[in-house]
Amino acid sequence: MNFVVLTIFPEMFTPFWENGMIKRAIEGKHISASAVDIRQFASDRHRTTDDRPYGGGAGMVMKPEPLAEAIRAAKKSSPFSRTVLMTPQGRRFSQPLAHELAGEEGVIFVCGRYEGVDERIFSGYIDDEISIGDYVLTGGELPAMIVIDAVARLLPGVLGGSDSAEKDSFSEGLLEHAHFTRPREFEGHGVPEVLLSGDHRAIERWRTETSLIRTFLKRPDLLENRRFTPREIEILRKWCAGIERIIEAQSLPGAGSLSGGE
Ligand code: SAM
Repeated sequence: MNFVVLTIFPEMFTPFWENGMIKRAIEGKHISASAVDIRQFASDRHRTTDDRPYGGGAGMVMKPEPLAEAIRAAKKSSPFSRTVLMTPQGRRFSQPLAHELAGEEGVIFVCGRYEGVDERIFSGYIDDEISIGDYVLTGGELPAMIVIDAVARLLPGVLGGSDSAEKDSFSEGLLEHAHFTRPREFEGHGVPEVLLSGDHRAIERWRTETSLIRTFLKRPDLLENRRFTPREIEILRKWCAGIERIIEAQSLPGAGSLSGGE
């Protein structure tokens, strides 16, 4: 998959390309990646890429001509890529959207700065607009890196273990289960016995259960429209039965009431 980033700060990407998973993905030829300076497409002596807004007001706006030239050049070498403008006004980035982008041949990222880009760039140059969340950053470079990182790790061969991305939070609509590593004892906290048992089916059951519990506790919104698997329904029924037992025990004569002894 080919990533091209159009930016006025291409040097921001050097450490990004040269470290960790992205570096290995480039070396392993799973992805190709480059950051292209939009300034080289500006026609004036000063390589101007921004100007004052029509109508007045604070801030500068990215001029359309250098952007259009930069996108045209990127499209020429990567004609089947999706051109994405990073903007807080775009659709919210998510794991399903990362999977969607991972199906593309390539993505051309347009990074805004200042007040954003001239509105006329939307006609004919931009296929998609993506936001990384409801907050405003100074530029699209960090958002582009976030999207590239999330997409690249989904590509076959990029991560070590074949299923490590499939089990991640959100991929199956749930938060991922808890993880433990050595030492076996840390500051008085042990490791769940089942993980030491070597019983892979029991471990898998425990992981499904902890995944469901932490989703219920931390992100109940994820469960609202979920189609539960039979195994998940079995777990939910087990919890319900456990809670029912606690309530029944509380209502026995002589037991404390759940409502604080009313
Ligand atoms: N004036 C714009 C607005 O209110 O919508 C915000 C411009 S922002 C200061 C400058 C650039 O940073 C944007 O053009 C965009 O490329 C990038 N950016 C800022 N926040 C972003 C976000 N949450 N997601 C994606 N890109 C963002």
